[in-house]
Amino acid sequence: MHGGDIEDEGRPDRARALRLLARKSDWHAGMPRRFGRDPMTVLENVSALITRLSPSPICDDCVAEKLNLTVRQHANHKTRELAGTNGFERRRDICSICYGEKLVTRRN
Ligand SMILES: [Zn+2]
Repeated sequence: MHGGDIEDEGRPDRARALRLLARKSDWHAGMPRRFGRDPMTVLENVSALITRLSPSPICDDCVAEKLNLTVRQHANHKTRELAGTNGFERRRDICSICYGEKLVTRRN
């Protein structure tokens, strides 16, 4: 099952695309369906995820895992980009997902 299945996104049969998405084996429980759909950018996805968890903090590792980012550095880059904007802050704290003490990002 690959992304190609949803290339008809935007056409009237959106429900069909959503059904296909729901079958994705790598889907993370609890994630809104929009996370798997383009055209949201990675930055928007990271922002939406942190906002959804707010005010609980999340570390870069968990951001990468939740959003299926293959490169953790990608998450790191994005969370750093968000820090300081729109109430996003970054500091060393306990991640609410993995409970590790790491650099986490959260939104106030
Ligand atoms: Zn974590």
